Amino acid sequence: MQTLVADHPLVAHKLTALRDVQTETPTFRRLTDELVTLLAYEATRHIKVERVSVTTPVDVASGVKLARPVPLVVPVLRAGIGMLDGMIRLLPSANVGFVGLARDEVTLVASTYAARLPADLTGRDAFVLDPMLATGGTLETVIGMLLERGAATVTAICLLSAPEGVARIAEAFPDDVPAPVRVVTAAMDQALNDRGYIVPGLGDAGDRLFGAI
Ligand code: URA
Repeated sequence: MQTLVADHPLVAHKLTALRDVQTETPTFRRLTDELVTLLAYEATRHIKVERVSVTTPVDVASGVKLARPVPLVVPVLRAGIGMLDGMIRLLPSANVGFVGLARDEVTLVASTYAARLPADLTGRDAFVLDPMLATGGTLETVIGMLLERGAATVTAICLLSAPEGVARIAEAFPDDVPAPVRVVTAAMDQALNDRGYIVPGLGDAGDRLFGAI
């Protein structure tokens, strides 16, 4: 498993504003959207392309286009939905699947309550959208579902990560077997607290995007 912490002043600037407890939902949504697009740029660095030639007004140029089958983007319900537009802006031809996992607030164990994914992902790049890589339980489950279906690569885009969660994913998917697994994140925070929140973090990403319900 490879981890990339995006090292860019714009990413750091937007993340700082996102963390701020004073940032209200409309601004939080916009910043999430912008941050995801920046992270998506890094996350798609290894996406499969095929060579094409194109006729310009002057001559013929060689170039590339995204290879088929098209990539699959999987927002993890509910907070990952807040990341979807920012990702699709960069990959408009991608298909979108959905996985819903709920975390028990006491045991912190995640259970699946919804899954809508293609049965066969052979040869496809998959991108998981989950804003907070905390314990890693949710992400481990979702990555496992995608690898079981034959995904060629799985890249998770997370706004924030905790070392505990990254270590869990690295242990679960050590050697690019059966396929490469990557985590792209805007920052690696200090640790989890006893309620499973990332410290200093940004609080509950779902509540900040959609309101506490
Ligand atoms: N989920 C969140 O929304 N925030 C955290 O800090 C950890 C998990």
